[in-house]
Amino acid sequence: MKTNFILIAAALALTGCSQPSTEVEGTSREVNVFSARHYRSDASIYAAFTELTGIDVNLIEANGDQLIERVRADGDRSPADVLITVDAARLHRAEQAGLFAATDYSDLVPSIAPHLIDPDQYWVSFTLRARVIAFSADRVEAGEISTYEDLADPRWAGRICIRESGNAYNQSLLASIVARSGEDAAEAWAAGIVANMARPPQGGDRDQIKGIAAGICDVAVVNHYYYAMLANSAQEADREAAAASVLFFPNQESSGAHINVSGAGIAANAPHPEEARELIAFLFSQDAQRLIVEMNNELPVVADAEWDNPTLQAMLPFQEDARNVSELGDHNETAQRIFDRVGWQ
Ligand code: FE
Repeated sequence: MKTNFILIAAALALTGCSQPSTEVEGTSREVNVFSARHYRSDASIYAAFTELTGIDVNLIEANGDQLIERVRADGDRSPADVLITVDAARLHRAEQAGLFAATDYSDLVPSIAPHLIDPDQYWVSFTLRARVIAFSADRVEAGEISTYEDLADPRWAGRICIRESGNAYNQSLLASIVARSGEDAAEAWAAGIVANMARPPQGGDRDQIKGIAAGICDVAVVNHYYYAMLANSAQEADREAAAASVLFFPNQESSGAHINVSGAGIAANAPHPEEARELIAFLFSQDAQRLIVEMNNELPVVADAEWDNPTLQAMLPFQEDARNVSELGDHNETAQRIFDRVGWQ
């Protein structure tokens, strides 16, 4: 494969160091992808893209905030062609920093739900993840809880596992509640969750599911793919942890389950804009969508994508929140202020 992987260390991220150029002959085509996704599925996608188009992919990986800072600091000298991050609020932040080129994505991507495309057309979502609720198969009856709002009820006092508020997934979940119910209701909800926590927030989403299996808590808030990862794991202990929980999609009778995305946009100063367009179009191909679902347990954004993943299949269909995901960015700062006020660590 001709995919070049360039990992920038955090220390180098801000220095505007060397450009990842591999141009050897006049005919070679390349695209510089700055990505905050660190998944095997994506390496396979870039390899398939190079195979199909002959365009080399230079991959620069860092966390989302480092990528945004690096591209911003490099300004019009930035080598970035495509920016990819997880979490709609980070996409929004990159957009606010002027890092994306306005692009007509309707030409470029097949018909996907309009709430997955930035209304200003700076970026487009290519994977979907739902933030949902797991409950103990032993200690909670099906139907005892059906909404995110229910989690704030005193009946769950001392029974909830959930991670820290610095985590983008929780910020976007709270931002969705701000968008739907307003700041006061969102604050009351967050205060209710803090009151109901089984332990101070800690660990990643998988640790919350393991918390249920260990009897530390009875309900947990997790992204659906972490449950799928445990359920599909080669390790028996992981599969047992998943089996101790039931995962369900909340708010099916009302707002729909909260979803977040991974998204991509063409960089404002892309040196290879045509190659960037081709790469973004490829993210919506059958091949790319299948790899995302089968290797990473994320949900496809292309409705007729074909894939094989029985654990995910068993979760579908579900009703998703159809509010535009860009609103998660609009309300991110409000969400962070609420977390501080209610003392959510
Ligand atoms: Fe994740």
